[in-house]
Amino acid sequence: MGLLDRAGARLTSHPEEAEILIVNTCSFIDTAKQESIDTILEMARLKTSGSAKKLIVAGCLVERYRDEIRKSIPEVDAVVGTGELDAILEAAGLAPMAAATSPFNIISGAAADKRPGQEAQSGTHKATHEEASSRPEGDLREQQGRFRRDDWEGATHQLPTYLYDETTPRLLTTPKSSAYIKIAEGCDHPCTFCVIPNLRGKFRSRRFESVVAEARQLVAQGVEEITLIGQDTTCYGEDLGLKDGLALLLDELAVIPGLRWLRFLYAYPNRVTTKLLETIAKHDNICKYLDVPLQHAAPAVLKRMKRGGSGDIFLKTLEKVRATVPGIALRTSFIVGFPGETAEDITALEDFVKEAKFDWLGVFSYSDEEGSGAFALDTKVPKRTIEARKRRLMKLQQAISKKAKQQWVGRELVLLAEGESEETPLLWEARTQFHAPEIDGKVYINDFGDLEALEPGRFYNAVITEAHEYDVVARVVSKAL
Ligand code: SF4
Repeated sequence: MGLLDRAGARLTSHPEEAEILIVNTCSFIDTAKQESIDTILEMARLKTSGSAKKLIVAGCLVERYRDEIRKSIPEVDAVVGTGELDAILEAAGLAPMAAATSPFNIISGAAADKRPGQEAQSGTHKATHEEASSRPEGDLREQQGRFRRDDWEGATHQLPTYLYDETTPRLLTTPKSSAYIKIAEGCDHPCTFCVIPNLRGKFRSRRFESVVAEARQLVAQGVEEITLIGQDTTCYGEDLGLKDGLALLLDELAVIPGLRWLRFLYAYPNRVTTKLLETIAKHDNICKYLDVPLQHAAPAVLKRMKRGGSGDIFLKTLEKVRATVPGIALRTSFIVGFPGETAEDITALEDFVKEAKFDWLGVFSYSDEEGSGAFALDTKVPKRTIEARKRRLMKLQQAISKKAKQQWVGRELVLLAEGESEETPLLWEARTQFHAPEIDGKVYINDFGDLEALEPGRFYNAVITEAHEYDVVARVVSKAL
């Protein structure tokens, strides 16, 4: 979006007004593919009947079905994979434009400093690429065929190597006080249910200085909450020769003046190091929040998933996490219905969930993905059984969550106000440091205290007054300093 904007395109969220339609797709499980295809078809109809002149499909679906998309949906004018972001300009029929004055909040370092006059001198702006490096594990897995796409008809064999940097123009579409920073791309893990490594390529980290520079720019432009993301943030820096790279990065980012909340998403269980936990504990502005997808707890299932570990090992990890970072909120996700999963395996998972008492839990039904290691396994679990297992696990967690949320009542917490609730204008929605953006339950504000009005993107002190299964209700006490 930053590149397009810089080249003179103006963004609209109303597709019927657009001259260029871009569908950014996801492709990691069946439901995501279906949603992507439905959206492309909807936009294709709009193109035929409306004012749009071009339809571009971008993202992971292109990595998987590049040729097929163009063949079966002739309305599509161009496809852009995850490793060829610069190609979006050519696809859109836009030449990089000099001295574009954007009405949007554009984040880019050197380029932003130059705008608008100086950029005209340099002529064009091009997205810059960081040099991709790799980890020995990634090289080994590549030799073993982990990233192969040979059976993927119509996909190119070339893996994406793209990484953005702090000078790549970027358009923020998140609420004004929050932003994501992608610190690494790709994944080297061998999880047999997952095709993400085949789609996104080998693990590669952005340069340390590039991430820090981007964070500084964001904070300078009013961002107060930064969420670091990547398929596996806990491997950050290994390809750059850093040990405990994520902890080092957090240490560096946490001291940026004005940054109120800093968090990272998606920790790999055996990479949650003592140093990482101590770093979370050390800084007040690092959210006491850890999202560590465990996928299962039965050793036999974890072994077939090629993830390793067991419920007992995970419980020890969780104990250490809670001891090092008191009060930390823990999120995890599980896959139910992995091939060969027995009733005993599910009982082991349920026992684990009862014991672990997660603050937030997501349960996903196994999706049989062509090209994944698990696709070839027989003993597939019937769909109805998978759905019944999922329902049971969610019900179990509901009771755990309800009890845990009761403990919140009476606590005074800092909230980030997000805006009026979509359900009713009588309530506002907010988050605490224990809620990641858009993932976890909500805090509803029903009482502004002495304040006339709230402002979205502002922080407030509040008291929790009621608890429900996943959500809580709060009364605002004052503005947070
Ligand atoms: S760690 Fe995550 S992204 Fe990587 S292969 Fe496993 S499930 Fe997929």
